[in-house]
Amino acid sequence: MFESGEGRNKWILRTSNIRCASARAKPAPPDELYCFDYQGRLLEGKGQVPWEIPLYTNIYRARPDVGSIVHAHPPLTIALGISGETIRPVHQLSACFAAGVPTFGGDLINSEELGKKVAETLGDKRAILLVGHGAVTVGSDVPEAVTTALLMEETARLQLLAAAAGKVRTMPPEILNPDIKSAARFIWRFLEWEEESGAAPRLR
Ligand SMILES: [Zn+2]
Repeated sequence: MFESGEGRNKWILRTSNIRCASARAKPAPPDELYCFDYQGRLLEGKGQVPWEIPLYTNIYRARPDVGSIVHAHPPLTIALGISGETIRPVHQLSACFAAGVPTFGGDLINSEELGKKVAETLGDKRAILLVGHGAVTVGSDVPEAVTTALLMEETARLQLLAAAAGKVRTMPPEILNPDIKSAARFIWRFLEWEEESGAAPRLR
């Protein structure tokens, strides 16, 4: 699911798994949208409120630069975390992880205490790996947070493959593209093209 900050008075949570173009092509079903304030109080939305709201509110409050948060339970990222590893900059599109991806162990982030600890552990980074649980990525907007989430799972896949074959080497920082925002927009446009053209997704 992905979440988008809207101003700093309220934020919207969408609970379905969607990717770029399809999100714009048709309006979200009302039962997939919730609106909260930054204290986690429900302003709009019906049905069972998702449990992990403190994860989002604490990151939004700690990071004024963050306009969108993705939280998901991607299997390869989880497997990498279980192995004791974390995401590393191992390929040409992994500059967003070069500053480090901290890890945090725990079940549901369903209390203020846990949400605060996750936000503190994330610090100023773009992603955090929740060991045995999933992934959280952040960005200034939805394309940045979503593309980072997709790249996180792809990076986990490559690391697991490389580890099975031998030693995992990271890319030297000086050859990674430092323009992470432009890279995110490029990947987002590529994903839009994939969806518009009906091509099979290459970045899942
Ligand atoms: Zn979760």
